[in-house]
Amino acid sequence: AVSIDDLVAWIRAFRDAVHRHKDELTRLDSEIGDADHGSNMARGLDAVVAALNPAPASASELFKTVGMTLVSSVGGASGPLYGTLFLRMGPALASDEVDAETLGAALRAGVDGVIARGKAELGDKTMIDALSPALDAWDAAASEGFAAAARAAAEAAARGRDATEPLVARKGRASYLGERSAGHLDPGATSATLLLEALRDTLA
Ligand code: ADP
Ligand code: MG
Ligand code: MG
Repeated sequence: AVSIDDLVAWIRAFRDAVHRHKDELTRLDSEIGDADHGSNMARGLDAVVAALNPAPASASELFKTVGMTLVSSVGGASGPLYGTLFLRMGPALASDEVDAETLGAALRAGVDGVIARGKAELGDKTMIDALSPALDAWDAAASEGFAAAARAAAEAAARGRDATEPLVARKGRASYLGERSAGHLDPGATSATLLLEALRDTLA
């Protein structure tokens, strides 16, 4: 099982990765959006890390704090969507005994929440294009344990991110560009890949 400290370390690693890639996320969003994805995510995750001190007592409380903080501190599409991801994860964890299967189920509840809220389907050039294949890969490898599941999920997320490049956006700001949105990576799929890579690096 993973401990609450591992889960906090994952969220902190995500914050650190977003800071390292902040300019890249903003550049991607400047090509097909409004050039704020890097700063949106960095600001939100700084608020999250501040809210995790002292560390929450349970995994479900941790994810609730992360989600509520993202919803309240990030404007734009990504705040409510990432917020929903985490807000839906907590209740899906029946106990604090978090194993690879239960974390996979919680992630799936989170991504289902993002889909319910944002109405994006696979191929719409959004964060779903990284998250959804990552979950499938996680589930397929979960019986081999955390490290294997997280490696498979991070790899699948990166492939899904890369596959957004030729797509025409059908959701969010980038969809306003129509055909001109093709030829660029989706910023949200790029940050979602950082989330899965942070989990892989934390559980390695
Ligand atoms: P905004 O577009 O409001 O400026 P951000 O730039 O922070 O917000 O986030 C943009 C990202 O949000 C996009 O790259 C995309 O991945 C994601 N996104 C936008 N709309 C949706 C949606 N309906 N469903 C899923 N993801 C979405
Ligand atoms: Mg933006
Ligand atoms: Mg914006």
